[in-house]
Amino acid sequence: MMKKKKAVIIGGGPAGLIAADVLSTHLDVTIIEKEKNVGQKFLVAGKGGFNLTNSSTGDELKNKYLPKNILNEFLTEFDSNDLRDWFLNMGIKTFIGTSGRVFPEKGTKPVEVLNAIKTKLSNSGVTFLLQHKFSGFKNCKTILVEQKGRELTLEADYFIFALGGASWTKTGSDGRWTKDFEDFGVATKPFQSSNCGVNISWNKNIIKHHTGKPLKNIKVYLDELEKVGEAVITEYGLEGNAVYPVVPGIREQLARNDHAHFFIDFKPFNTLEQLQLKVEKDNLSPKNYADVFKLGTSQMAVIKMFTSKEEFLDPRSFIKKIKHLKIPAVSLRPIEEAISTVGGIPMEEVNSDLSLKKSNNIFIVGEMLDWDAPTGGFLLQGCFSTGYFAAASILRRENIKGNK
Ligand SMILES: Cc1cc2nc3c(=O)[nH]c(=O)nc-3n(C[C@H](O)[C@H](O)[C@H](O)COP(=O)(O)OP(=O)(O)OC[C@H]3O[C@@H](n4cnc5c(N)ncnc54)[C@H](O)[C@@H]3O)c2cc1C
Repeated sequence: MMKKKKAVIIGGGPAGLIAADVLSTHLDVTIIEKEKNVGQKFLVAGKGGFNLTNSSTGDELKNKYLPKNILNEFLTEFDSNDLRDWFLNMGIKTFIGTSGRVFPEKGTKPVEVLNAIKTKLSNSGVTFLLQHKFSGFKNCKTILVEQKGRELTLEADYFIFALGGASWTKTGSDGRWTKDFEDFGVATKPFQSSNCGVNISWNKNIIKHHTGKPLKNIKVYLDELEKVGEAVITEYGLEGNAVYPVVPGIREQLARNDHAHFFIDFKPFNTLEQLQLKVEKDNLSPKNYADVFKLGTSQMAVIKMFTSKEEFLDPRSFIKKIKHLKIPAVSLRPIEEAISTVGGIPMEEVNSDLSLKKSNNIFIVGEMLDWDAPTGGFLLQGCFSTGYFAAASILRRENIKGNK
C-alpha cells in the first residue's frame, strides 16, 4: 500500500479544523496548537451571539466581504448552505434567526459544537499536538515547533497555516507569527482593529448621564456601508452591531487624515418627507421634539451635541439632523478588544488556491489572511470557506475527488 502523504495544520481554530476534516480521509493529518485546547476563540464567539454563519448565499453573501470580490471563489466552493450541511453531518442542527444569522439549535452549547468537530476529527485519525507552538521555518518542507522549552522539527508534504488574527490574545490568536513569515520571505501587513467600537469625544453630559444607554433602531452609515441596529453609548464612544459595519470606512479615512466621521439616522423607518409632515402639522418647538419624533433622552442628547443652536431651534433643520447626523470619530478601539482584525498576510502573497507564492506546498487560511467582513456569521463563514478551499485544493493536486 502506498504511504499516505502528510499534512500538518498549524492553528486549531475553525479554519484549521475544517481543513483537517477535509484532508483526513486521504492524508495523514496532524494539528499543531499552542494552547491547551483547540477552538478557544470559537468558544468565545459562542459566549456572544454565536452566529455560525449567515443564511445569505450567492452575491448577497460575497458582497459582505472587503475588499470587493476578495473571497468569491472560496465562497462559491463552500457557502453558508455547505457549512450548515457540514455541521448537520456531525449532528449539529442549525436555525436561521433575525437578520439571517445562523445559530446552533436552541439548547446546543458552544462546547458541544466544538466537541462534535473534535470527535469527528479524532474518529478520522487526526493527531492533535496541543501546547506545541510554531516558531519558524527551517525550509519549505520543515517547520520549527516549541514544546515545553524544547525545539522540535516537523516535516510534511503540505502545511496549512490557520493561526488567526491578533485580537483577544487570551484565546491564543496573538498575531506573533508575522515575524516568522517575514523571516521566511513572506510580506505581512500590520494588524488593525475591525468590528470594534469607535472613540468619540463625548461632552460631559453624555458621559455623566447616558453611558451604558442603548440607541435602538438606528441606522449607522458611511458611503455604501450601512446597518440598522443598536449601538450602546460608552465612556469612550459607541459600541455595538450597528457601528461595526462602518469601521472599514472609518479606518480608511483615518489612514488618509487625522480625523474621520460617520452618520446616524435616528429614524430609519421614516422618510424625511414623513418627518416634514409632522413639522407642518404640529406647532413644534424644541421642547416637544422628543414627543413628536419619539426620540429618547439619550438620542436627544447625541443629536443636540452635534447640532448648532440655530439648527436645533429650527424644526426643518432639526429633522435633517435626525436623518443625517454627522459624528466625528477620533479613532478605533484597540486591537485587543476587537472582534476581528484586518492585516496579516496580504492576498498578493498567495496563489488562487491559497498556497504561498513563495512556496506552493504551504497554504494560508482564515483570519490570518487580510480580508474584512462584518459580524453576523460572516467572519466564521470566511474562515470555514478558506479552510475548506485550501484543503480541497490539496486534494485536487493529489487527484483525489473530495466530498463536501
Ligand atoms: C468576542 C468574539 C465574538 C465573536 N463572535 C463571532 C460570531 O458570532 N460569528 C462569527 O462569524 N465570528 C465571530 N467571531 C470571530 C471568529 O471567532 C474568528 O474570526 C475566527 O475564530 C477566526 O478563525 P481562525 O481559524 O482563522 O483563527 P482562530 O480561531 O483565531 O484560531 C487560531 C488558532 O491558532 C493558534 N495559534 C496562534 N499562534 C500559534 C502558533 N505560533 N503555534 C500554534 N498555534 C498557534 C491559536 O491558539 C488559535 O487556536 C468572534 C470573535 C470574538 C473575539
